[in-house]
Amino acid sequence: MGLCPRCRKPPEILNVERNHYGVCHKHKVAWLVGINLFSSWQQEDEIKWRLNAELLDNYRRVEPYSYLSRFPT
Ligand SMILES: [Zn+2]
Repeated sequence: MGLCPRCRKPPEILNVERNHYGVCHKHKVAWLVGINLFSSWQQEDEIKWRLNAELLDNYRRVEPYSYLSRFPT
């Protein structure tokens, strides 16, 4: 899922419909983690998604730091 490229901490996951975004609130960055990977989005509603989308609008899109690239499978 990737880590914040600035602080390399695990992100909070925000959903917008079935899209999952990793965000770091400290550094105001976000990246797309995946689509329909977790079922959590199904418990949320359009109001929550709209709030998340507005927050994501203010965050910079970045490439996440990935430990998969350090430890290839
Ligand atoms: Zn960060």
